[in-house]
Amino acid sequence: MKTITLNNGIKMPLLGLGTFKMAGEECAHSVRMAIETGYRMIDTAEGYRNEEQVGQGIAESGVDRKELFIVTKVNFRSFENAREAVLSSLKKLRTDYLDLVLLHWPFGNYYAAWRELEKLHAEGVLRAIGVSNFEPDRLIDLVSFNKVVPAVNQIETHLFCQRQVERKWMEKYNVSPMAYAPLGQARRSEMFTLPEVTALAKKYGRTPAQILLHFLIQLGIIVIPKSVHEERIKENFNVFGFELTETEMETLRALDTATPMVGTPAKPEKVEMFMR
Ligand code: NDP
Repeated sequence: MKTITLNNGIKMPLLGLGTFKMAGEECAHSVRMAIETGYRMIDTAEGYRNEEQVGQGIAESGVDRKELFIVTKVNFRSFENAREAVLSSLKKLRTDYLDLVLLHWPFGNYYAAWRELEKLHAEGVLRAIGVSNFEPDRLIDLVSFNKVVPAVNQIETHLFCQRQVERKWMEKYNVSPMAYAPLGQARRSEMFTLPEVTALAKKYGRTPAQILLHFLIQLGIIVIPKSVHEERIKENFNVFGFELTETEMETLRALDTATPMVGTPAKPEKVEMFMR
């Protein structure tokens, strides 16, 4: 598995399993299947209400905890009590440390939450801490008034929303980009059938999903595709062993519309929706 070295020196797999909307036995089974396939990084969140099932899947896989990289997120409604939220996540995930914990959205008292994550990091409970859905303005603000620079920023990133501008800012502050919705969620069929994508799939003997995931990885972006289907979990894992040429990368780069589907905190209506 290819890894990326985060700004605090720890290594993180470039590919992991997303678990948004996974629930119950299906969630535990998918996590176990992914680990058996070779995935070593799992992304969950307090807000997904599936940390217990993720923990169950991890336990059932029988793989040594030290080989895994577990990521979870603190919900903004828990920001006043971030320590409690992390301790609860640890219990549900059946572990005594986490590899990476993120602030899920830049809403509420995220300064209080960040400083608690800094303490848990200093205590060795969290190997790395980071943020999610932070646009450059929020990121610069957080970096400017705190000790620890976020190791990653998990933000919606896919073919149609490549975050070319945002990634320049992340690079400047040494924050690694992590793509959520790397397959474009509901827009995936649109992407899978683009002639630019199908031509590359044919050339490299891969599926469109594999081309799209590989494209992000080749840009140095961490990806966490979600699937509950064994054949897709395997397909999404088999994205290494080939390189796109610079011209092919440029062709895919040109398909960017810089328009997120979910991650648009700048839209007041979206923010109101989150507050409900
Ligand atoms: P993805 O881009 O990973 O797309 C997931 C969808 O694609 C599912 O419906 C899945 O269906 C389908 N799918 C997966 N693999 C394939 C394939 N090879 N071919 C065809 N269809 C496929 O979207 P997500 O929103 O799930 O994002 C990934 C992860 O990012 C989340 O699971 C979560 O961990 C994280 N996330 C973080 C957010 C944040 O605010 N920080 C917000 C949203 C997501 P099926 O399962 O039926 O196979």
